[in-house]
Amino acid sequence: MPAGYIGRFAPSPSGPLHMGSLLTALASFLDARAAGGQWLLRIDDIDHQRCRPQWSTHIQETLQRYGFRWDGPALVQSQRLPLYQQYLQQLREAGYLYACTCSRSQRTAQHTAQRVYAGVCRNRGLPFTSTCSWRLRLDDTAQWVSDLRLGTQQFLLPECSGDIILRRRDGAIAYHLATVVDDALCQVTHVLRGEDLWPETPVQLFLQGLCQFPSPQYLHVPLVTDTHGRKLSKQNHAQALPTHHTGPVVMQLLTRLGMVPEPDWQDLSPEQLLQQAVIHWDRSTLCRMINTQRR
Ligand SMILES: [Zn+2]
Repeated sequence: MPAGYIGRFAPSPSGPLHMGSLLTALASFLDARAAGGQWLLRIDDIDHQRCRPQWSTHIQETLQRYGFRWDGPALVQSQRLPLYQQYLQQLREAGYLYACTCSRSQRTAQHTAQRVYAGVCRNRGLPFTSTCSWRLRLDDTAQWVSDLRLGTQQFLLPECSGDIILRRRDGAIAYHLATVVDDALCQVTHVLRGEDLWPETPVQLFLQGLCQFPSPQYLHVPLVTDTHGRKLSKQNHAQALPTHHTGPVVMQLLTRLGMVPEPDWQDLSPEQLLQQAVIHWDRSTLCRMINTQRR
């Protein structure tokens, strides 16, 4: 295990923490602490239409009740916008971006037909105004992606993501850019996150290359699904977590990560329960677990 392990958990405060997000928090925490590494908390709140400060507070309080302790203060993305702007300008000056004036309805029509943006504005040479969106030019780039559990796979970027928006027409910075910048500036070495983000990984690796950032190691964690096999999310109203008597929930999540917790761990304090889990953590068990969704 490398000496300088830095892991992170990066929830979006668009609702309360649920089983699915807590599983990701737990996996990244255990892997970092078992490696003697740091574990950072980052609040991914740049999408101001979806995120609320009260959920940010709620998420941090819930994590603490479950015994999680992170290194340093939580990093709040909405307080770092000038930093992302700086990288956005660099990408623009280097010729990697183009301006797009397609309306939402045009994009939706293209999206339905072709799944990704068809590059209508790519060669139009439109000026970069504050009211248009700024897209990343992807051309025919192929990107290799490695994951500690899912293995190595090659993606053709125009097919899997298309020319993604890095700056929305309302000025908001895209999740991909903020994530890549923060992972690099915080020197994150390992990203353990939900498997639903695996398809987003190729374009993030591509962006890391453009910004000359090193790429962290990735481990995408199987998703927690409901009885209908759907991913638990805020959108499908996953139940909020209990805030007292948290042991049984953590025990259940440890089992989902392939661990076999001792029954008496349930009676430990939240902090002690996590300590026991750190001692017994074996990443290779998680890496052998099958994927929960088709790739
Ligand atoms: Zn366009």
